[in-house]
Amino acid sequence: LCLSSNLKNKILMQFEPVIGLEIHVQLATASKIFCCCSTEFGNPPNSNTCPVCLGLPGALPVLNSQVPEFAAQLGLALNCDIRLDSQFARKNYFYPDLPKAYQISQFDRPICENGWLEIETESRGKRRIGITRIHMEEDAGKLVHADGSTESLVDLNRAGVPLVEIVSEPDVRSAEEAKAYMEKVHAIATTIGVTDGDMEKGHLRCDANVSLRPVGQEEFGTRTETKNLNSFRFVQQAVVYEIGRQREEILDGKQIVQETRLWDTGRKVTFSMRSKEEADEYRYFPDPDLPLVHLAPELIETFRKNLPELPDAKRQRFMEEHGLSEYDAEVLSADRRMSEYFEKVLTYGAAPKLACNWIIGDLTRVMNESGKSLKEIDLSPEHLAALTKIIDSGEISNKIAKTVFEEMLASARTPEEIIEEKGLKQVSDSGELGRIVDELLVANPEQVEQYRAGKTKVIGFFVGQMMKQTQGKGNPAVINSLLKEKLDG
Ligand code: ADP
Ligand code: MG
Ligand code: ZN
Repeated sequence: LCLSSNLKNKILMQFEPVIGLEIHVQLATASKIFCCCSTEFGNPPNSNTCPVCLGLPGALPVLNSQVPEFAAQLGLALNCDIRLDSQFARKNYFYPDLPKAYQISQFDRPICENGWLEIETESRGKRRIGITRIHMEEDAGKLVHADGSTESLVDLNRAGVPLVEIVSEPDVRSAEEAKAYMEKVHAIATTIGVTDGDMEKGHLRCDANVSLRPVGQEEFGTRTETKNLNSFRFVQQAVVYEIGRQREEILDGKQIVQETRLWDTGRKVTFSMRSKEEADEYRYFPDPDLPLVHLAPELIETFRKNLPELPDAKRQRFMEEHGLSEYDAEVLSADRRMSEYFEKVLTYGAAPKLACNWIIGDLTRVMNESGKSLKEIDLSPEHLAALTKIIDSGEISNKIAKTVFEEMLASARTPEEIIEEKGLKQVSDSGELGRIVDELLVANPEQVEQYRAGKTKVIGFFVGQMMKQTQGKGNPAVINSLLKEKLDG
């Protein structure tokens, strides 16, 4: 094999990924950012609109004061400096989903700057990722491509829905870290309540900027930006793909093209959308229709004082106060609704570990399968606590508990009522169980023989038979000791 020394060097070369993420977060306001239209999801196309968000000439924007307040709260939670007189700017471009032909955003005077958050991954441990800025902006509308038609339709319900864009420093170094970063932003933003954080509704969308550089080189390589990644998994997959693709290109002796790419969820590849635009192509300028956004320092201090417990602190507390494992505490603390539900269940006297298992196990599974939120499932925390107490007392087995749980979801009855009504109570009466054991031993002399000849493993066969006979209601401990007693005796 004859390789040029240049090529040999390249093959030996190790590359380091450099990644910066831009995350758009939809704020949980009832009305849009510059008009009174509703932000409600799923309404008939163009029903949430007015002259302002339709971009009609002469209509003037008025800022929804909830938007800078949410943005400032998020900035505080992400350790940012808050600007007390930030400014809106017009970002000019034409697209059919943008009727004004400019997006109201922020440019050189964003509301938040110089923040950071901490992430943790298995391979790289705890790391601080810098946050360059957070700015406020309006969302654009949506183009709808009807099936089998070449026409595109425009729905402006989303036009003017408030967003913040969180721009990270190029501090992320792996796909795993990119995913952890997006998860952390989601956890913090939902915990402080500035977004509902529903991923399936596109409340969090990430643009991933990826470049490679030879290990040891200071200077960054040319980056690509993969737009609109709307799940944690897609961010990870797209970054993995982009790192691999760029590596191949470089090893092939090609130049990376600075461009905007899209993620194809089906083929699991990124593909080129357009060459990257530069900021000056947007002709940003201060929006003359909107005054500076003034925030009082006292208001910022109030926000700072009133920030709720953030996910990292909550995780720590769940480990210390409730004795949860790091994993359990992490899963619960990443989701505000789930962690609040968990603590609600505990107030009714549930054992923390059991309550946690049901919440991050069966309850989460049901949420995923049904696509319903915790609120929509509406399982009474008191009833779930009662179920864990019944399990703890040994009154029903884990298997029966699953049946009871399914029934609890289907009706609002208490677990006690369900157990009573369905006759699901565990049978621990040794007289009753003893009779069934006797019958089984008589009916299966061969297995009894085997057991007594030293093949004690056949006890499993008898346990299985006992469970069958009692429809899973036999108390396993009682059954085991009865079997041992009668087989050994
Ligand atoms: P633009 O506004 O054109 O998208 P910015 O300079 O504001 O560009 O950067 C956008 C994002 O790209 C930021 O998150 C930043 O950290 C990241 N970034 C900038 N340069 C690189 C690079 N060479 N490799 C990877 N990410 C980068
Ligand atoms: Mg960008
Ligand atoms: Zn409107």
